[in-house]
Amino acid sequence: MKIKIHRGINQIGGCVTEIKSKKVKILIDVGTNLPNCKTNVKVNVAKVSKKCDAVFITHYHLDHLGEYMQVRKEVPIYIGEQAKEIFTIYQKRMKEPAIAEVTQDHIDRAEAFKTFTQDIPIVIGDMKVTPILVNHSAFDSYMFLIEAEGKRILHTGDFRTHGPINNNISEILNNIGQVDVLICEHTTLSRLDETFMSELMLQNEATDLIKNNKYVFIMCASTNIDRIASFYHANKEAGNKLFICDDYQKDILDYVTKTSKKYKDYYNFSDVKSFDSKLYEEMTENGFCMLVRSNYFSQKFINSPKFKNSLFIYSQWLGYLQGETADENISKFVPKNYYYLHTSGHATSEGITEVCNVVKPKVIIPIHGENSKDFNKLNLPYKIKHLKNKITYRIGERI
Ligand SMILES: [Zn+2]
Ligand SMILES: [Zn+2]
Repeated sequence: MKIKIHRGINQIGGCVTEIKSKKVKILIDVGTNLPNCKTNVKVNVAKVSKKCDAVFITHYHLDHLGEYMQVRKEVPIYIGEQAKEIFTIYQKRMKEPAIAEVTQDHIDRAEAFKTFTQDIPIVIGDMKVTPILVNHSAFDSYMFLIEAEGKRILHTGDFRTHGPINNNISEILNNIGQVDVLICEHTTLSRLDETFMSELMLQNEATDLIKNNKYVFIMCASTNIDRIASFYHANKEAGNKLFICDDYQKDILDYVTKTSKKYKDYYNFSDVKSFDSKLYEEMTENGFCMLVRSNYFSQKFINSPKFKNSLFIYSQWLGYLQGETADENISKFVPKNYYYLHTSGHATSEGITEVCNVVKPKVIIPIHGENSKDFNKLNLPYKIKHLKNKITYRIGERI
């Protein structure tokens, strides 16, 4: 088998990986560059997806999926079933009222995505691709085990082991055994001096904040279901005030509630309310937690004199708020005295080390990190191939 990282080495996001056997060619992820990305590697996805048998998407973050419209129409795109639906709801929201350049074509294409089921391999010619469910800040995220010609590759996508559930990566990968190549994300390895709070620690801090503040506004990504769950459960523990969102967010949460099987209690959002003016009195009297986003609807509540002594929790990447990556809408929207409460969706050095030690790769190819050499800091007893973008690596070739 051959591996070519078209993009994703020495940068976070923009991931496009090609894996080829003698008979089959697949792509893993077709991501766009993140807005803060300084490298400028161009990938012509239309060209790269030529004579391609399938595209597999690890999760719906745009740095893994954003270029799906460039994939040739005859090539099937596979994604998790819940990920497909959440992404489709999100795309519909982006189209109406025209928040991004999303057209009906985008939605039609998303609706035509094929889906896979956890642990059930998709077989294409001589290649077998097995999706392995992992925890990440996108819901329904997967690693892929790719097997062909007697060789085995594990592609981690984005993952973490400090999420609220499905964290035991040793158990998750237990049956896989040794792999020839581990293509591994290393987003956090350039920040080894930082400590990362677990999602559960975040939930505990949120519980105290919600207990001590009658009116709480929370800003986090609408598709970061685990983060919403952290605040939702924190609110329950803090006395169970009204938990309110807009209709779009409610659609996503209802879908998750309806379709989550294995962790159905954790992802049961059935008493979240979408705002209705009838709730106003109860909100004023008993307090509330409200999920907000940078729009007029949310602004109305935040500016209301009735909720003057409210707390605003900012629970996403600080880069949207400050510096050269700031998003004008968000930085204008967030009040000056916001409370920052966030943790990474990416594996810590311990999480990455654990994955390596379970699958004991003959070769590691680091992707999705600022500098692949950061991987050396882990001092692991495995060979590391510091591949360059667009250069083919043949499994077994000398490093
Ligand atoms: Zn990513
Ligand atoms: Zn991601």
